Amino acid sequence: MKDYYEILGISKNASQDEVKKAFHRLAHKHHPNKGGDESKFKEINEAYQTLSNQEKRKQYDMFGNADGAGNFNWAWGKEGTQNIEFDMEDLNDMFGDVFGFGSRASRKKDLKRGKDIRVDIEVSLEEVLKDINKNISLRMNVRCSRCEGKGAEPGTALNECFSCRGTGEVQKVKRTFLGSFTQWSICPECDGEGQRPQKPCNVCKGEGQVKGEEDISINIPAGVDSHQMIKMVGRGEAGKKGGQSGDLYVRILVKEHELFKRRGDDLITSRLITFSQSVLGDKIKLVDLEGSEFLQKIPARTESGKIIKINGKGIPHFSGYGRGDLYIELKIETPKHLTKEQKMLLKELQKQGL
Ligand SMILES: [Zn+2]
Ligand SMILES: [Zn+2]
Repeated sequence: MKDYYEILGISKNASQDEVKKAFHRLAHKHHPNKGGDESKFKEINEAYQTLSNQEKRKQYDMFGNADGAGNFNWAWGKEGTQNIEFDMEDLNDMFGDVFGFGSRASRKKDLKRGKDIRVDIEVSLEEVLKDINKNISLRMNVRCSRCEGKGAEPGTALNECFSCRGTGEVQKVKRTFLGSFTQWSICPECDGEGQRPQKPCNVCKGEGQVKGEEDISINIPAGVDSHQMIKMVGRGEAGKKGGQSGDLYVRILVKEHELFKRRGDDLITSRLITFSQSVLGDKIKLVDLEGSEFLQKIPARTESGKIIKINGKGIPHFSGYGRGDLYIELKIETPKHLTKEQKMLLKELQKQGL
């Protein structure tokens, strides 16, 4: 790589003003229109383009005057990468082999791996009470059954890949701002296998996967809550040409219930009682989330808004035994319609000061 400072005849500590002055002086001297050397002029221009731009200059300074990846001044760890314009993909491509970023084998594996799939599943609050199974059907790429995902027509041989001559890798020269690099990458013809089927599978055309429908049974444990994710390893999209399948992520969404609100593993509901029940106490019939009726005693002199707690009638704990509790808020109902007799009795009560 060229030394831009040397080309402009300035020191490494030169100010932006000095960079500019040096360029003007040299550009004047070597301008092709004035009989100067065109390649020299281009070189000066290139040096100026880099050193007059603060970002580019910083990058250039960080990398030093390297001749290639082998002599590279490796400074990422110390300098941080936030101002560097290369993304990791480029870095892996450029230096993967020199610096051991991500082995070729693992990149090869990733290329063939099927996609991960995410689905949302709605369950009712009642369904959360027990372990359940939900069956869903997903349209996605599934393993080709004719070739068992391998991509070769059954009974045909595998030949050496013509593109990479069986090595599974192809060489490319990549030119960058930092110089030219020889880049090895996975052979796109054989996906790094080094072999290609003599005859690709008739059904999947050699891909090893076909569009299809997959029936999946999802086990949803009791006590699950909204936004919990169930990971099903290997149940995502089929891999290409014998590659690993992706994973399936099932996100749970618990539907709102008409009567019961969930707070953690506790349930909250409300119940109307009459004025006489609140004053004298009573036994009232209640229904839990399972739908079973039970009797609950209300003490005398219960005020409106009083909350009674019933142990163990909430949601089962997701991890472990036991359940949350049920809280019932009692509200005194003001009657809207009264019979003649009720009205008469209430008037009696009024006379008594109630
Ligand atoms: Zn096939
Ligand atoms: Zn190949």
